[in-house]
Amino acid sequence: MLPLKEKDKPLVQKLLSAGCCARCVLRFCCVSVQAAYRKLHQDTLKELQAFIGQSENSESQDSSVAESTDGNNKSQDATAASEPTEDPPSKRAKLEPPPSEGDKATDDLTPKEDESSVCVVCLGILQELCSPTQAVKIAEAVKAEKYDFDTLVMSVSLPAQLCVREHSIWLHAKKEMKEKSIAVDKEDVIQVKEAFKWIMQGLVAKELGGVAVVTRSLFEVGVEFTHPETDADCHFLATTCSDCFRPTKNKKSVFTRMAVVKSLEKISDAKFLKHFPSPPARPTVSCSAQDVQCLHMSVFVAGRYNKFSRTLPQTPWVIDGERRMESSVEEIIAAPILTNFRSEDFNFSSSGREDVDVRTLGNGRPFAMELLNPHRSRFSKVEMKQIQETINASSDKIRVRDLQIVSREAMAHMKEGEEEKTKTYTALIWTEKPIKKDDIAFIDEIKDLTLDQKTPLRVLHRRALAVRPRVVHSMNTRYVDSHHFYLGLKTQAGTYIKEFVHGDFGRTKPNLCLLLQSDTDILELDVESVDVDWPPSIPE
Ligand code: ZN
Repeated sequence: MLPLKEKDKPLVQKLLSAGCCARCVLRFCCVSVQAAYRKLHQDTLKELQAFIGQSENSESQDSSVAESTDGNNKSQDATAASEPTEDPPSKRAKLEPPPSEGDKATDDLTPKEDESSVCVVCLGILQELCSPTQAVKIAEAVKAEKYDFDTLVMSVSLPAQLCVREHSIWLHAKKEMKEKSIAVDKEDVIQVKEAFKWIMQGLVAKELGGVAVVTRSLFEVGVEFTHPETDADCHFLATTCSDCFRPTKNKKSVFTRMAVVKSLEKISDAKFLKHFPSPPARPTVSCSAQDVQCLHMSVFVAGRYNKFSRTLPQTPWVIDGERRMESSVEEIIAAPILTNFRSEDFNFSSSGREDVDVRTLGNGRPFAMELLNPHRSRFSKVEMKQIQETINASSDKIRVRDLQIVSREAMAHMKEGEEEKTKTYTALIWTEKPIKKDDIAFIDEIKDLTLDQKTPLRVLHRRALAVRPRVVHSMNTRYVDSHHFYLGLKTQAGTYIKEFVHGDFGRTKPNLCLLLQSDTDILELDVESVDVDWPPSIPE
């Protein structure tokens, strides 16, 4: 039985007459028993008709009409089916049962007639678009994408005009309830979205082999409905509440659901009724279901890379739309990862970055990648190792280690306290003045030398002009010949090494030129270590 009470009868009658579907009637009667919505909507309609029929019958003493008139209805069905397109108001009028003609009232409310009638409020969403057939369609669309998931969350996007129609029918029902002194709070009315989920989540889950449909999941299945026929329903709101409808960059239409809800909160009942029919006009067709959108939340992968090439940029190097280098660190790393995770795109980040001509040696530089909408997301340690091997086999310019899946939160460790971390470098130095081994020995004794680095000229186009203090913790030298030596440096992260060596026209002070009383330049630079102890190392 339907969880309705005697007092609901007039409201049920009024809503059915206004062109509401059975499930919308339940919604406006604030029925929160989910099972009531899961019955076939045609069956619920029959039950509702029987429910009000009984009240009708108790007055007219004619108790068997609803069941016995089926045979007589056949001729009327044909006209009823085409009726909504022709003359909706007359249909509503006809649906209002004249108190004395119990016979006629039950005739007009036969389920067959309403099967072909699109609900004035939900525009068909809680009718045929909320059925086992529709659940199969959604499930098939999900299966075709071959995602990895145990649970899913369903999101539903409805046409904004549904709110207008909901408001219209609410005002219509309110009048009835006021007359009967029934107090109903609009907040208690069940939302279309909610009813849709109550019905469809279980059906879709079943089709997908019993996967759990939950309220929070990494995997989202988006169902969207549109109804072009009634798109103009919202338009009058733009004149009554112009403030609510401001054009925004990314939206196709100003009539977003949010804006419509906001304007409906502001409009008076009288003003609304002046612009919009209550109850709303009958649509000719149901909503159209748009393509199902599947989205898996990002998965994060981290590791460390070495770069052995002096002609490989970290990220694609494009100037004026033209590629300067054929590859990049991130592209070499990303290719096998994207293929394996079947991810659409990625964001790459790392603990600092080296210039195109700088190598990164030692344990390598920590990096992390956000994989967007990955279709596969679960990999064992062995599988991750295989992906790492694929990357390493694909190029001799880089090498990856410690490749692993990490959490979004863990990624913060990479950037955490980056300024305080130290980095170790080796630079090949050229000096203008001839040098002897003893001339450079003093450099080994310098500890915690603070530099004032004005933003280097070469990065001034992308970084704000500032003077940044940076510390060179220690240095060591290895003599090569009278014009060359290797300089080892341990510095605070973010120190510009090239500028420390050549001075950048005096923008870095002190610098190696000042220390050696000679022009100096940097011929080669290697990063020896990046002291960030994340991600955790994985034994080879
Ligand atoms: Zn409906």
